[in-house]
Amino acid sequence: TSPATLFSERNAIAGRPLSAVTGAEIQAPLIQGGHVRYANLDYGASAPALSVVSAYLNEILPFYASVHRGAGYASQISTSVYENARNIVRDFVGGRPDDSVVFTRNTTDSLNLLAGCLPSTDGRPNGDVLYLDIEHHANLLPWQGLPHRSVVAADTIAGTIEALRAELEQGGVSLLAVTGASNVTGEILPIRALATLAHEHGARIVVDAAQLAPHRRISISTDDVDYLAFSGHKLYAPFGAGVLVGRPDWLDLGTPHLAGGGAVREARLDGVSWTTGPARHEGGSPNVLGAATLARATQVIAALDQDRWHAHESAIRSFLVEGLQRIEGVTVHQIFKDTDPETDTIGVVNFSVAGYDAGLVAAYLSAEHGVGLRDGRFCAHPLLKRLGLPSGSLRASFGVGSRLEDAQRLLAGIEELRRTGL
Ligand code: PLP
Repeated sequence: TSPATLFSERNAIAGRPLSAVTGAEIQAPLIQGGHVRYANLDYGASAPALSVVSAYLNEILPFYASVHRGAGYASQISTSVYENARNIVRDFVGGRPDDSVVFTRNTTDSLNLLAGCLPSTDGRPNGDVLYLDIEHHANLLPWQGLPHRSVVAADTIAGTIEALRAELEQGGVSLLAVTGASNVTGEILPIRALATLAHEHGARIVVDAAQLAPHRRISISTDDVDYLAFSGHKLYAPFGAGVLVGRPDWLDLGTPHLAGGGAVREARLDGVSWTTGPARHEGGSPNVLGAATLARATQVIAALDQDRWHAHESAIRSFLVEGLQRIEGVTVHQIFKDTDPETDTIGVVNFSVAGYDAGLVAAYLSAEHGVGLRDGRFCAHPLLKRLGLPSGSLRASFGVGSRLEDAQRLLAGIEELRRTGL
């Protein structure tokens, strides 16, 4: 599919490649034909489905049948669509040929699945899970039922690596669980360096790529990442499917994530022998349409021109950050110092307005300016507390379908708020 035909009028730069969109169009008036375009600055929560993905959903709907269970034509087609989706996703993340690709409900589900697969001896886990204090709850809470340790991220990437190294040198860590990019601030973590660090200390690494995958190409084989998890709904596919990709050995021995039909080799009335491979964790009838549309979205994203894609998102981000910093009383929040040369960011900007509750600002922006963004603590309570934001802040997030005018509208709304009050 050519990127030129990727997006619907509603959620894109009029369905054309970014290079074909002129500056004048980007500055075009927001009110057209009496309607204000909705400025969706909440891609980090869920990104609007691509039009090709919706079209694909309609294409496969007539063949929708249960997989792996029937010789009928529709079942065969569904089975091949579903199984092929694994190969497409493996390619998307640069997986190794023997990596397992397990379809789940979302990133949270994927990380919980992995938590049930950490090796143990005589029922005792072989080591601790180590994580930073900046994680989304999805990459924090599943590990808390296991032996675990946490490290406070420093104010530079290099300092954070050193803090993790110091902890790993204590020994006894089996898994380093780290986010690819912060859902709170958009800052990217150096996953290749972290993978090397984990392996040097005999640990494996899992990357929570819920935010990274929609913004950056990833290759788990090049970066030597053991496990990767992400969600379809943040990657321009509909809700309902996520994935865990990674080394098969732990997964093939781990506790089946959903005990039931399809997950067994042989079931008896008083016992069971579980199967291996992805089916071990996918008991019951799987979400064929979710997996297929997730895979379709990865193909579209993989076909984007990387330079243009990143330039588009980073132009909007810089414009927004600079604009916010010019408004009195507005603070932009980040984990790492501005001066850290290693900092790179995805399309997420976190900020607060002095004297105003974040929830009220978000409600005002929605009602008065047609801007949708997220407020609150972003399922990252420890980080928000440490950033001095115990009652939350605001997050603007964007992606391939966003326009500069969405950021302009947000800035105009905050300026008006500062001028006139609520
Ligand atoms: N990890 C990160 C970094 C996220 O941003 C999110 C969602 O906001 C998740 C995990 C959880 O994703 P899901 O709700 O799709 O399970």
